[in-house]
Order: sequence, then C-alpha cells, then structure tokens
Amino acid sequence: MKVLIAEDDAVSRTILKKSVEKFGHECLAAEDGEKAWELFQSTEEVDVVISDWMMPNTDGPELCRRVRAVDADPYTFFVFLTALGDKEHLLEGMKAGADDYLAKPLDREQLEVRLIAASRVNSLHRRLNEQKAELEKLNGELFALARRDPLTRLGNRLRLREDLEALQARAERYGQSYSAMLCDVDFFKPYNDHYGHLAGDEVLEKVAEVISGSLRAGDTAYRYGGEEFLILLPEQTLESAKVAAERLRRSVEDLAIPHEAKAPPGVVTVSLGLAALSQDEKKPAEELLREADAALYGAKEAGRNTVAVYNGPTAEQQDAG
Ligand code: GH3
Ligand code: MG
Ligand code: MG
Ligand code: MG
Repeated sequence: MKVLIAEDDAVSRTILKKSVEKFGHECLAAEDGEKAWELFQSTEEVDVVISDWMMPNTDGPELCRRVRAVDADPYTFFVFLTALGDKEHLLEGMKAGADDYLAKPLDREQLEVRLIAASRVNSLHRRLNEQKAELEKLNGELFALARRDPLTRLGNRLRLREDLEALQARAERYGQSYSAMLCDVDFFKPYNDHYGHLAGDEVLEKVAEVISGSLRAGDTAYRYGGEEFLILLPEQTLESAKVAAERLRRSVEDLAIPHEAKAPPGVVTVSLGLAALSQDEKKPAEELLREADAALYGAKEAGRNTVAVYNGPTAEQQDAG
C-alpha cells in the first residue's frame, strides 16, 4: 500500500515511517497538514493516511475533511494519531471521516493491526467499485436493449416516445422544424399467407436495413407497429423529406423481393405517408403522427408503392372538427 504520514513531530514521524516501511509499504511523510494535503493531491492512489491531530497550518481534522471531500478511487483509509490525553478527540475524529485511530506513543503491533484493517477495507472498496462499474455497463446495455426492436434492431415505441418528446421540446423551444415519415409494407398479410411468417420476418429485416441505410445523420427510425416503420427527420422540410421518402420507396422496390401474391410489379413494396411541422409551427407530436398516418392512408388509396404528403384535413374531417 501507499501510506502518507502527516506528523509535525520529527522523531515520531521518523519512527512511524520506518515502521510502515518495515511492514513492506511505500511511505510518504509530511511535516504539517498543508504539505500532507499537497502530497495527497499530487500522489496517485494514496491507500492510507496516518495523521497527527494538532499540526501547524492545516490540522488533522481539516486534512481529514479535505481527503474525504475527494471522491477517491480507490478509497483512502484515514487513521488519526492520538496522544494519551486526546480521548475526547476520538469521536470528533471519526465524525470528521476517519476510519480508525492509533495511540501515541507508537505501538508497532497496533500499527500493523490498522494497516491490515486498511488493506481489507480498501480491497472491499475496490471490489465494490468494480461491481459498480460492471452494473453501470450492464445497465447501459439493458437500457439500449429495452429500446430496440429485436427483429429489425430499430428503435421501439419506448425509444420513439422519448425521442419524440425531445424533438418536440426542441421544436417548441427553438422553433425547429421536423418531418415524420410513416412507411408501411404493402400487401403484407397476403405475403405472410403465401410465403409464411418466417419469410415475412425476413422481409421486415430487409426493409429495416434499407431504412437504416437511407438515414441521414440526425434522422432516426423506429418500428412503429407490425409492418410499419416511422422515420423522424429533424430540420427537414416536407420537400426534402419527400425526396428521401421517394428514394426509400425505390430502394425497397429495388430489393426485388418476389411477391407473387399480389398485383404487379410482383415484388415487395412500401407506401409512405409524410407530414411536417414547419418552423415555428405549434402542433403536438400526436397530431403530426396522425397526419402522417392520414397521408399513408392516401398513399394506399392511390394504389400503394407510392409517397403521399399530408395536405390538410379533408372536408369531411373539417366538418367533424
Ligand atoms: P396494406 O397494403 O393495406 O398495408 O395491407 P397489409 O396486408 O400489409 O396490411 P394488414 O394490416 O392487413 O396486415 C398486416 C400484416 O402484417 C398482418 C400481420 O400478420 C403482419 N405482421 C405484423 N407483424 C409481423 C411480424 O412481426 N412478422 C410477420 N411476419 N408479420 C407481421
Ligand atoms: Mg502535532
Ligand atoms: Mg399496416
Ligand atoms: Mg401493410
């Protein structure tokens, strides 16, 4: 271990240092609290501090408080040296953050006892820190896992909700625009019926891959429902989002996944619905998603394998509203 001694009495300091070294530890010694504090700060991983109570400049309790204020990793075991008449200091010392005390004049055996205790406590702290790091890592992995759709590896609904909240907050605070793109596989039920559910899963994986590959930096994609995907495009206008959507539609068509169970082109296709929140526009995220959904419905109505943009409520909806 690395042991730091703070003791203004030269004789006591020398005896203590020699004893500590004799027990096989590395030892640093300072003649007052201030020097000890400097040494503590400039030395890596001080395992134990053995400190006198009364010292010029910075005294023992102050040194102890400073050492404790640093969230040291590994832990620093703090031992006070106490003279015979210092009994009343014991409690105060422990309250200042000390782990143990050692009576003066020095008893070698007592010193060894403290050093053994220090080593044990320190290794316990070290193990706790390792476990904490391990838990934090696992926690991070679980966090990611809980927000990912296992089949497509895209974000799931939970992830979407969180991201959408953040996006909406930015939109409200800074007037940022963003677009939402809803993508739905055409005639997917007949595909499943014809090729089987597993083949259907593979289609979803492939479409998700195309979506991931088409994202620009800052765009995010989610599995919205069974065969529906949502893509959020921050700071993109409806026009630029439309270009991206058309490209995506083409890329899926170009996969040329045979789909005999439906009308031409005989391959798997997707339909896309787009809606946007323009700069400084106030509109809840739910409404934007409803608009994208309405646009998607329009794309399906228009014959599928197409991109449709939301262009205001229909006369019917306006009447109802
Ligand atoms: P449309 O062109 O109008 O979108 O018709 P569709 O058949 O694609 O839509 P519909 O809503 O009728 O059917 C969606 C199908 O998606 C039904 C369901 O079994 C399938 N599906 C949903 N989730 C999954 C999944 O995880 N794996 C597979 N293989 N199929 C799924
Ligand atoms: Mg002293
Ligand atoms: Mg659907
Ligand atoms: Mg569908």
